[in-house]
Amino acid sequence: MKLLVRPRPFINESLESYMLRLSQENFFEYYQQLSRAIKDWLQLHDHEAAGAFPVELSRLNVYHAAQSSSRRIRALKLVESLTDNEKLPLLHLAVMHSSEKFCSRYSSLFNAGSHVPRALVRQKGIPVCPDCLTEANYIRQEWHWMPYEACINHSKQMLHECPKCEEKLNYTHSECLHTCRCGFDLRNAGTEPAEEWQLIASRLVVGEHSPSRHPLLDIRPISLRLACLLWYQLYIHKTLDASDQVSTLTIERAIEYFTHWPEVFTQELEQQAALSGDKLVCDYNKTSFHDVFGNIVGISRLLLKAYPESDFVLTPLENFLARLVDQNPQSRVPNVADLLISMPEAAILLGTSYEQAYRLYEEGYLKCAIKFKSHEKLVSGIGVFYLREIMELRQSRMPVETSSYNNYLPAW
Ligand SMILES: [Zn+2]
Ligand SMILES: [Zn+2]
Repeated sequence: MKLLVRPRPFINESLESYMLRLSQENFFEYYQQLSRAIKDWLQLHDHEAAGAFPVELSRLNVYHAAQSSSRRIRALKLVESLTDNEKLPLLHLAVMHSSEKFCSRYSSLFNAGSHVPRALVRQKGIPVCPDCLTEANYIRQEWHWMPYEACINHSKQMLHECPKCEEKLNYTHSECLHTCRCGFDLRNAGTEPAEEWQLIASRLVVGEHSPSRHPLLDIRPISLRLACLLWYQLYIHKTLDASDQVSTLTIERAIEYFTHWPEVFTQELEQQAALSGDKLVCDYNKTSFHDVFGNIVGISRLLLKAYPESDFVLTPLENFLARLVDQNPQSRVPNVADLLISMPEAAILLGTSYEQAYRLYEEGYLKCAIKFKSHEKLVSGIGVFYLREIMELRQSRMPVETSSYNNYLPAW
C-alpha cells in the first residue's frame, strides 16, 4: 500500500484530524475508505494490530481501545510508516490512557506531555473556531478539552453548533473537518466575542504562563491547572455532574473563585470549623474529620506525581489545620483539634505514602484513637488518628527527603 500524499501533522493537531486530512489529501471520498484500506493492509502485516485498528474515526484514538492499547499503538506505528513522519510521530498526536489519578481517584488521559482529567475531556461535541479553520484546515487538540471555551488567537467564542442545522459539531462523528453534515461550510460561521473568563480558561489549557492575568496561570504544569478545576467541582458539588464531567458553569465559577485564592478558601474553612459543633453527634474525639469537613483532604492531593507546585491546594489546607491545632490546645474537654483522621488522609497530610503511614502506625509513632479487633477499620477510611497528633508529627518531618515522599522512618 502506498499513500501518494503524505501531509505533515501540525504540532497541536489531533490524531483524528490528521487521519482525516490524510484521507482527503489522498482523494478518498470518505474516511472509511482509507481506514478499510489500512485495515486490509495491516491484516497482511500484523494480524493482531489489524484487529486493534477501528474503521470508525470516533474510535481511532488510543484511549478508546477497550482492551489492549499496546496493539492499537502497534497499529498506529505501522500506519506511521505509510506517512513518512519521522519528525512528528503519530503517537505524539495520540491521546492515551494515563495511570495518573487526579484528586486522589479521578482517572485521566495523556497527551503531549500533560495529563488531562477525563472529566474535562469533551464527550459529545467538539467545537471549532471558524477563523482558525480558515487559516489552517485542521482540528486543534485543545478543542477537545472542556475549558477551551474561546479561541485565544481570535478572541472569539468557540462554535459548538452548526448555524444552519443547529446540530452539535463533532468532526469525529461527521468525519468532516470544516463542513457540517448538512453541507454548511463552518469557515463562514460568525462567532461572538469571547468573555474574559473564557480566555483565561483557554489559556490554562494551552499552558500560557501569565501570572498577572490570573493566579492559575502562574502554575506551570497544565496537568495541575486542570486538577484545580476538577478540585473546585468536587469541593463545591462533592461529585462530578450527571455526565461525569465538570460543568462549564463550574469552570466559569472556578476561574472567579481562584482570583481570590487562597484567602477565600481559608475563610470558608474557618467558617466550617466555627460551625462544626452544630454537626456533632458524638464528641469531637469520636467524630471523623470527614464528617465535619467532607473529603477535603482526599481531593486536595491534586496529583500523585509530585510537581514543585503540587501543593497549590494542600498548603493552604495544611496551614489552616496547623493553626486550628495551635488555637485549640489539648484539654479535658475534647475540641475540634481532636477530630479523627483516617489512614488515607493521614498519608496525604504527612506528605508520605500509604505504606509509610502504615509503618508509622506499626512502629507506634501514630497512635490509634480507637481500639478494634481487626485492621479492617484502619484501612476502611474512617477516622482513627487524632488530627492534633498528625499535625504534630508533621512538624517533626525528617529533613532528608529521598524521594517525592517525606520519610519519617529510615528504610530499615
Ligand atoms: Zn481561532
Ligand atoms: Zn449543519
